[in-house]
Amino acid sequence: MNAYAPLLAALVALLAGLTIGKAWERYKLRDGTWIDRRRVRESPHYILGLNFLVANQIDLAIAELTRAASLDANALEVHMILGNLYREKGQVGKAITIHQTLLQRQKLSRIEHAYVLLCLGIDYRRGGFVDRALDAFNEVLRLDPENEYALENIQKLHEEQHQWTEAYDTRQRLTNLAAIDSRPQSESILAFLENEIGLEATRRKDFPEAVRRFQSAIELDARAVPAYLNLGDLRLSQGREDEAAQIWNTLVQVAPDRAYLAFARLEAQAARAGKPERFTDLCRRLIEENPQDWRARLALSTHFVAAGQPAQALELLFAALVQNPHSLSVHQAIWQTLGQLGHPQTLVDRYSDVTQHAVFYLDPHVCMRCRYRSTELLWQCPHCHDWNTFVEERIAPAQDTAN
Ligand SMILES: [Zn+2]
Repeated sequence: MNAYAPLLAALVALLAGLTIGKAWERYKLRDGTWIDRRRVRESPHYILGLNFLVANQIDLAIAELTRAASLDANALEVHMILGNLYREKGQVGKAITIHQTLLQRQKLSRIEHAYVLLCLGIDYRRGGFVDRALDAFNEVLRLDPENEYALENIQKLHEEQHQWTEAYDTRQRLTNLAAIDSRPQSESILAFLENEIGLEATRRKDFPEAVRRFQSAIELDARAVPAYLNLGDLRLSQGREDEAAQIWNTLVQVAPDRAYLAFARLEAQAARAGKPERFTDLCRRLIEENPQDWRARLALSTHFVAAGQPAQALELLFAALVQNPHSLSVHQAIWQTLGQLGHPQTLVDRYSDVTQHAVFYLDPHVCMRCRYRSTELLWQCPHCHDWNTFVEERIAPAQDTAN
């Protein structure tokens, strides 16, 4: 379980911000005397607490940090972390109380005030108090207009409520703040949000706006796969067949690893045009360009079956199985084809050989960020809500991919 990893990253960032920031002096004037802020940080309880935190032993971390906090009631960051830890343990009420109490303090600097409010906003969000969370994050932005944590939380809150335009505007602010090298990543998130706005426009039948949004998504990120699919679907619904096919073919070119998402559409389009070979040629080309492409093999095999050539279909399916022994759809196709051939013993034996070491499961997609598993490819993770984090999981090929 890695549930605490994002929390940890946020805490480290908070600590760094507070320790390095100009606002956090080592010595602070309190009641007319200078107080040495190092006292808490040099206490063994503080160090132990952070170690337990890194080791994900949250209860022990709370115990040690509580002791460290008792050394100096004014040690803001320790109390702030304690509140965060209670929140992550699910004790949201306690976290809110701690952070609200910190906010009552006199003499909080602007940046300290912003950090405590940020923690409180996250508490509210976790507790499901959406409006209060939004207020807190907006207040953080008033104090610290470039606070990326506040902006990210606001974006997520809007996404959770399907307020795509508001989420887009917030992500736009984050993109403007992003360093040059992380800008493409931020723009690809913008592209997904554009796509959602386009879908909304489609639902209310504002097609010109939908087209604009899908096109804008593709401009932001040439690999914005759902935007190609949706734009093509829209063109098809307007009777513009060729345009739809052209859009899906562009998708195949820019993102061949996701080409399979357009297979059913392209196959049907080729059939309607009376040129089914357009689709089979495409599959062959994809296999040639990427020998590991098991989906193109699977798609091509159905054509061989339909054309009364189950033996050729089976060869393709065996090759697909070597590339992805976990795909239930390949196994199902193999059994269907074996059935058509009357289950010849030699072919059944070959199937046994290929599958001997395979592990079967139905959910070959996994979120790179939180390990959430899904049978379908998802663009936004339902668990960690991040965009475009799913990869196809393959434990180990049944044999080396030498072909
Ligand atoms: Zn996830």
